[in-house]
Amino acid sequence: MDFDLFVIGGGSAGVRCARIAAGHGARVAVAEARFWGGTCVNVGCVPKKFLVMAAEYGGGFADAAGFGWQTEVTGHDWAALIAAKDKEVGRLTGIYHRLLTQAGATIFDGYARFKDAHAVEVNGQIVSAERIVIATGGRPTGLDIPGAELAIVSDDALALGARPGRIAVVGSGYIAVEFAGIFAGLGAETHLIYRQPLPLRGFDDDMRAGLAEALEANGVALHPAVVPVKIERRGDAKALSLSDGRVLEVDEVFFATGRAPNVAGLNLAAAGVALGAKGEVLVNERYETSVPHIYALGDVTDQFNLTPVATAQGHALADTLFGGRPRGVSLDNIPTAVFSIPPIATVGLTEAEAVARGEARIFLTKFTPMRHALSGRARKTLMKLVVDARTDRVLGAHMLGEDAPEIIQGLAVAITAGATKADFDRTIGIHPTAAEEFVTLRTQTRLVGGAAGAP
Ligand code: FAD
Ligand code: NDP
Repeated sequence: MDFDLFVIGGGSAGVRCARIAAGHGARVAVAEARFWGGTCVNVGCVPKKFLVMAAEYGGGFADAAGFGWQTEVTGHDWAALIAAKDKEVGRLTGIYHRLLTQAGATIFDGYARFKDAHAVEVNGQIVSAERIVIATGGRPTGLDIPGAELAIVSDDALALGARPGRIAVVGSGYIAVEFAGIFAGLGAETHLIYRQPLPLRGFDDDMRAGLAEALEANGVALHPAVVPVKIERRGDAKALSLSDGRVLEVDEVFFATGRAPNVAGLNLAAAGVALGAKGEVLVNERYETSVPHIYALGDVTDQFNLTPVATAQGHALADTLFGGRPRGVSLDNIPTAVFSIPPIATVGLTEAEAVARGEARIFLTKFTPMRHALSGRARKTLMKLVVDARTDRVLGAHMLGEDAPEIIQGLAVAITAGATKADFDRTIGIHPTAAEEFVTLRTQTRLVGGAAGAP
């Protein structure tokens, strides 16, 4: 065998797995077809967050007036933002490449496909390996409607030559609400089109309702309970027809309607690797596919499609195979944030999930954050704790508001450690902050589930 380990895909999962395995002394090769660092670094978390930050300044200038600042904003230079973002992404991509070479991994800049269960072909070369990892991530998917080819997806949205004057974002998952915030914050007429009554299906309902209010307060036009039926060219613009008969004229239609695993060209059949109904590579808790020496990690397995999950899995697999430390990654209590404006962050169970398990005590607060007492902006913060009525354990913490991701990351440690509401109550707050509300929530809002019945 040429290598102990061949990793297909140089994204979050693949780079971590390859780097740690090489560090353990394994002979490792990695192939990357498009961009080192993968989706997160190049067309995901990182560039997206720079754009969110840019958009937040928009409201920030207006807020500053309430604090005595005299500002005159003459506009926003989209091209300058994209150039700055591209420069930083280029720097980070270089770092990922360097990390691998410094760790001693052999790099292939090319698309890899299976020849058989122990060999891949890359750049015309056949390379054999004892073990192979599939870490090929996912790609955006659009809707199958007439005129779909006129729409853009997230990869395109991060590289537009100019900011659209009017944009219709389709979907209400992570990407849709994040990009609606970006475009509205940068001054575009922004429409959000989704088939649910509230955005962010799967998140806590109080947060979803709060987000809908926040989006509207930011000037996003909400179009719930509809789906697009066709897109037509109308001069330089696009006409988007909706299922309720309305037609929106916009400059761009943006499909943020989910992602699909990247498996199409891998020739998995040659290796005998089985796929699930959505095209995801099926794995067991040891990341083994249907072929035990072939593993799959990250988005291509379509479990929790988040970078920290992908990197944790990559690290765990490398430690298991080559570090003498067999371990997995718990998928319980994975904290997550949606970088909407303001953001949502959450860890643990939603109220609905807790109700399905038994009786839960709900603590909910909604208030105007201190900054906006002076800025005058109508922006609310929401915080919520879901507590097991029987054991007093905090099952879930949810927040919509400024700094929510920074705050919930800390609470995730407490909840992972099994903290009870009494532990929260005996924790001293940091004053004056929004975060201290999580340790001063004394009045129960409602009792739900179990004998108490549904809310
Ligand atoms: P990827 O990072 O996609 O890496 C897979 C790599 O494999 C790619 O570089 C691809 O080019 C390469 N590849 C594919 N096929 C082959 C082949 N045959 N040969 C060689 N190379 C191949 N997650 C968060 O946690 N926080 C966020 O804020 C966040 N924001 C996001 C924003 C957007 C717009 C998007 C799209 C995603 C975001 N995510 C975020 C999700 C996150 O990016 C993914 O969960 C993460 O990148 C998954 O890592 P991965 O290694 O599984 O796949
Ligand atoms: P999501 O799965 O989160 O959302 C997809 C959206 O598209 C949903 O609102 C869904 O509606 C809608 N949709 C799907 N199919 C159709 C259809 N046929 N007609 C109408 N609407 C449809 O995917 P995203 O593309 O937003 O993001 C992909 C993943 O990337 C996320 O799930 C997340 O794992 C990751 N990500 C993480 C981020 C973060 O951590 N901050 C940021 C961005 C992405 P419905 O709810 O009704 O199904």
